[in-house]
Amino acid sequence: MLKLICGPSGSGKTDLLLKQISSDIQNGIRCFLLVPEQQAYISERDIPQKLPPNAGLYFEIVHFSGLAEDVFRKYGGVTNASISHGIRSLLMWDTLRSTAPLLKQYGKSAKNDGTMTSLMLNTFSELHANGITGERLEEVAELLPLESPLKNKLYDLALIDATYRQKTEEAFGSDPEDRLLRMAQKLQEHDYFENSRVYIDSFTSFTAREFDVLQCIMEQADLVAVSLCADDLYSSLPHFETVKETANRLKKIADQIGLRVEKTKLFPKSAEKNDSLNLIERDLWRFDAPIVPDSNRGGRDTVKLIKCRNVYEEAEAVVLNVLDLVQQGYRYGEIAVVARDIEGYRGILDAAMERYGVPYFLSARTDFSSKPLFRLVLSALRAVYKHYPAQEVLSLLKTGLAGVSLQDCSLFEEYCETWHISGSRFLDTAWSMNPDGLTTEKSERAMEILEAANRARSVVMEPLRLLSDEINASRSVCSKCEALYRYLTRLQISEQLSNRAETELKAGRRREASETVRLYSLLCEILAQICRLLPDAEMSTEEFTTAISLLFGSTDIGSVPNTHDCVTVGSASTMRVEKIRAMLLVGLCEGEFPRAISDDGILTEKEKELLEGYDLSFASRESVRYSEELFYVYRAVTKATERLYLCTVTNEIDGSARSASLAYNRVKLLLGLEEEAFQLRQIRSALSAAESKEGAETETSAIPMPAGSTLRLSQSKIQAFVLCPYRYYSSYRLQLREKKDSAPSYADDGNFLHYVFEKFLLQALCEDGTLSLPDMSEIETIADSVIKGYLSAVCPIDPGEMDGKLLHLYTRLRKLAILILHDMIAELSQSLFVPNGFERVIGASDPNGLPSVSLSLRDGSVVILNGKIDRVDLFQSNERIYVRVVDYKSGEHRFKLEDVASGMDIQLILYLFAVLSSNPHKLAAGAAHFLYADQENGKTSIKRSGIVLEDESVKQALDSTPNKEFTKKLLPQTEEEIKTRIEEMKSAVTSVAERILAGEAKKTPSEDACRYCPVRDNCDKAVK
Ligand code: SF4
Repeated sequence: MLKLICGPSGSGKTDLLLKQISSDIQNGIRCFLLVPEQQAYISERDIPQKLPPNAGLYFEIVHFSGLAEDVFRKYGGVTNASISHGIRSLLMWDTLRSTAPLLKQYGKSAKNDGTMTSLMLNTFSELHANGITGERLEEVAELLPLESPLKNKLYDLALIDATYRQKTEEAFGSDPEDRLLRMAQKLQEHDYFENSRVYIDSFTSFTAREFDVLQCIMEQADLVAVSLCADDLYSSLPHFETVKETANRLKKIADQIGLRVEKTKLFPKSAEKNDSLNLIERDLWRFDAPIVPDSNRGGRDTVKLIKCRNVYEEAEAVVLNVLDLVQQGYRYGEIAVVARDIEGYRGILDAAMERYGVPYFLSARTDFSSKPLFRLVLSALRAVYKHYPAQEVLSLLKTGLAGVSLQDCSLFEEYCETWHISGSRFLDTAWSMNPDGLTTEKSERAMEILEAANRARSVVMEPLRLLSDEINASRSVCSKCEALYRYLTRLQISEQLSNRAETELKAGRRREASETVRLYSLLCEILAQICRLLPDAEMSTEEFTTAISLLFGSTDIGSVPNTHDCVTVGSASTMRVEKIRAMLLVGLCEGEFPRAISDDGILTEKEKELLEGYDLSFASRESVRYSEELFYVYRAVTKATERLYLCTVTNEIDGSARSASLAYNRVKLLLGLEEEAFQLRQIRSALSAAESKEGAETETSAIPMPAGSTLRLSQSKIQAFVLCPYRYYSSYRLQLREKKDSAPSYADDGNFLHYVFEKFLLQALCEDGTLSLPDMSEIETIADSVIKGYLSAVCPIDPGEMDGKLLHLYTRLRKLAILILHDMIAELSQSLFVPNGFERVIGASDPNGLPSVSLSLRDGSVVILNGKIDRVDLFQSNERIYVRVVDYKSGEHRFKLEDVASGMDIQLILYLFAVLSSNPHKLAAGAAHFLYADQENGKTSIKRSGIVLEDESVKQALDSTPNKEFTKKLLPQTEEEIKTRIEEMKSAVTSVAERILAGEAKKTPSEDACRYCPVRDNCDKAVK
């Protein structure tokens, strides 16, 4: 007899089956409970307690695969374990590779395409689930008209199927995927189920092969009872469509073998759940159910709708609600979290759980491909066959397994980014380019970066180079595997992973430790599998990488719950839970949960429809899949006995909008519920409001420096502080470093021009201190030789390999330098002022240096002023020596007197003061100016801006041209006025110094302040 027991979720179907099983056991009748494989663990855990003590004598819980093994054990037959997804992927990939030249439709895309591999596997598992063989596809292809595009597709599928099967049988003797077919054949020969009863629970549908086995069971067993989750066997509700189909198919088989069919209908046990949950169970997908406009019917305490901004916020919301439930007396084990596909939450939800110390079990398995070892192997292989792209080399380093410390890794990355290192440049024996970019000066930090970069390069590249030599020299898969194994041995991966596991264990991360410890043997197993499965295959390193990547991508590291009382987290289609008091559903967004149905295989919906005309029926048509999607939601929401929380998000991570799914909106409508925006949002805004209130005080209170401190300031530091105290604080006290780049930048113009002018004029300066200026016609030749020296110092790259942008920059700068040199030589050749020093450092002890300039503050602190003067010219007249300081600027720079008192522009006055202070009795101020190139209407002209002493003889010494073309734009200042400017400069410096020492660090954004601020990307007030 076939007994069909139907009833909605929670109506007691399993209890009824168990009651009958108990009675059978008491009567000494042999009986089986057949459940889906994912359900077996829970059934074996929970059911024996509910059965009589002698259950073990008569009763067995089985699933289809286990049953096949039992049958083969008893009657003989191959009991191959099922092939892992990874192996199936590898065999399918190799099938596609070898059949590609013969394929009519997929010849081009089949070769070396990982996506095609998984599409084909999905298609064949769908075809096999529907009992459709390659032979049948070929027969139908013969019948299709010539012009039908489906014809070639079916021929291809038939050929691929045959080749794949042949490869599988060669490797495993027989295809383990056929074991249900072989079991059915065995059952036709032997009465395995004679005198027994079979109870079938928790299935919604069966594959064609499973139906074959069920038919044998129905023919042999005294009773077959199947529980089906549906309100009625003739249900009109969309989510029970699949179950209804299953019932019909079972009835059809029973009719064929002349079996009596008995139907039992169960009803929901309303008393066990609250009204809201009962209503949801009954009407969730009953679209014609009347919506009662009653504001009191909502289950405000038991059902919650939570709206979050994105998945990260959603994960926080889930965890905080779990903690709230625990505070109310729930155990973790009574709570479950379900997503349509939990993979989308991996690394987000589990991270949030760990952050808050919530024990959880992610029922999905850990993907091997997410592990650093996987990334190391793939990055190394890609680095080798793509000839060392920076991305792969860096990703290899970041795995933490390449033998490079975290610190060296980040400095290596910084250096590679600065100099855009890629390809064969990684194989250089040593790098010497300046980490500070295109400048001849190397800071201490730059030295540190350079050393670390070279250290990391030698550690990483030598093993990679060896791997490259060995793997490229070998054609066979096995020798490639050996080369890879040797690479891993050189890196001492096994030892590294053991150490890592030990650290994880000590930190109490048992699950991670147990996974880490298994990684190496898993990898070795994978390499051995490839050698075993494709022993004679020859392939390029790129193909080998694809093969490895397919196996990695399909390998899971099974993990078991590491604690009894934990929140179960899983995917709606596979997760099985029982005794759940509170269920939280996440990702209830349109298209996600329930998932939108689309053609995602090789055969489209239309083609399946066409094939049905040739007697190939698909149980996986769109309507069925849609029904399944609705059922997954139904099953999840009805598992909760007390609380149901539904979460949706309004935005993707990239900010694009999302809308709530039908399931979420149905519950909202049915219960008349208000959704709640996740509280963290308010908490956060309250926090940030509090922060901004406090901000006014905290920003001005960076730790003050004690009285008696020594503060070193320069013109640029003072200007940074005047523009924005926080800019000064972050750059000079926190020492946040702006990302350097060897690509041309504004700062590089200055470095280049300073170098060229200094070296050019040094060549013209005679030993006796006089100038021997070159002829105008010689300027270009001299400048070019100076530029050559500059390039070899800052950018030791062969011009042939030089970045296009860099070449363009130097061409432009050369032009500009020559233009300014012409102007400078013209000026110097008619002036009585003669260059006396270049790049003179204030406070340096060398002969070219100037004495330091220090100012005392009221609290006893001292400010020492630093700086480097581009050029100092002198002119002697009677007893006095007049000084002119010159500062080169690569862009427009107008000097304003008022900027001295504010501290915005003290440079010229500070420099003048520094030179005069070196000998106040002899030296007198003559002039101070900026020399810069100005662009106007596409024309470049050389300009000067600054001050000049209001003294005719000095002015004449400076500029003897009839129209005073070199001094006419300079601001005339008397000796007294220059002294006043110096006092203004000193007072600006002391005022800024006192504010810095007091800890002032507020943000004062403005266009000028923020434009070149090194922390602007991370500053909430930046003017962008
Ligand atoms: S970005 Fe603007 S406001 Fe922010 S620290 Fe820099 S200069 Fe100040």
